[in-house]
Amino acid sequence: MKFNTKTIHGGQHNVDPAYGSVMPPIYQTSTYSQSTPGGHKGFEYSRSGNPTRAALERAFASLESGEYGLAFGSGLAAIDAVIKLLNPGDEVISTNDLYGGSYRLFTKIFEGFGIKFHFIGMEEASNIENFVTEKTKLIWVETPTNPMMNVIDIKAASEIAKKHNLLLAVDNTFATPYLQRPLELGADIVMHSATKYLGGHSDVVMGALVVKDKDLAERLYFIQNASGAVCGPQDSFLMLRGLKTLHVRMQRHCENGKKIAEYLLGHPKIEKVYWPGFESHPNHKIAKSQMKDFGGMISFVTKGNNYDEAIRIVENLKVFTLAESLGGVESLAGHPASMTHASIPKEEREKTGVVDSLIRLSVGIEDADDLIEDLKQAIG
Ligand SMILES: *Cc1c(COP(=O)(O)O)cnc(C)c1O
Repeated sequence: MKFNTKTIHGGQHNVDPAYGSVMPPIYQTSTYSQSTPGGHKGFEYSRSGNPTRAALERAFASLESGEYGLAFGSGLAAIDAVIKLLNPGDEVISTNDLYGGSYRLFTKIFEGFGIKFHFIGMEEASNIENFVTEKTKLIWVETPTNPMMNVIDIKAASEIAKKHNLLLAVDNTFATPYLQRPLELGADIVMHSATKYLGGHSDVVMGALVVKDKDLAERLYFIQNASGAVCGPQDSFLMLRGLKTLHVRMQRHCENGKKIAEYLLGHPKIEKVYWPGFESHPNHKIAKSQMKDFGGMISFVTKGNNYDEAIRIVENLKVFTLAESLGGVESLAGHPASMTHASIPKEEREKTGVVDSLIRLSVGIEDADDLIEDLKQAIG
């Protein structure tokens, strides 16, 4: 089945044996009757399993070319489950330009449990090997990165993981399986903040994991059930509804993203535009080889790097909404230095490029002309 058919039908056979409804029913129930102790029809308690969630988990697995999907109450709950595969003393090699919440989970929660994280630049994947020790268990890759839009070679990272018998997990939130499928490139675990593009309508917070290996799936399922950070049936239904248009939305996000990146590049007040579709992007070749297109996430800095000017621009936007998050049908703008990355000390954030005038756009699927007009009036 091709990807654009999978978004609609993947894993969705016989979702309603009772009446044949086309969409899976919302099984808004915590428990299921049993004819005799243990005598149930596949579900006994909704933390352990729910038919609506199960339909969604099959859809996730299908989209990411995996065998097993797991849905969680948020992207961070999904990441939390992955790190719980580890034990005190284990080490993780992680991308340095990382989603802030992942960094906070790793350093403020899991370092306290004795897990060590190395945050490193991975634009040269061979650098990963410099940090492998006997204690390394996991490589955590996020690509493209947030907000600097660096691209990491997943295949090269997977070769290093295989050589040293490590797990490779990829946060595929920015790219989505429409643009890149890490399991096909050798990753062991693919993770999503489904809150973003997969849901696509800014109305659900949810996380997902997909794997191929049965043993790994069983270990993660054990954690999902034992720790209990599952999503509810209503949210599972909304996510299934969102997924059906993923390919159509992504195609438009990419088209609009290209137009806006090109517009910004030609603007006299703009110093630099970060978007992997430009040939001048340092990782453009890898992006081109592992991604179908370049997406709708763009960051840019204005000339003079003035903090107040950046604030003025994001305040003046009218079609773009000033808000955290990304990946919805509506365009959003954010100012990382004062919003998502405010908790990182100025010198630290500037080392990775998050300077005062950096603005991040999540380009939606509105008419590109209106988005360009809006940027024009806001930048001035
Ligand atoms: C939003 C996000 C997360 C966290 O997901 P939540 O659903 O907000 O918990 C993780 N990684 C990336 C890249 C994100 O954008």
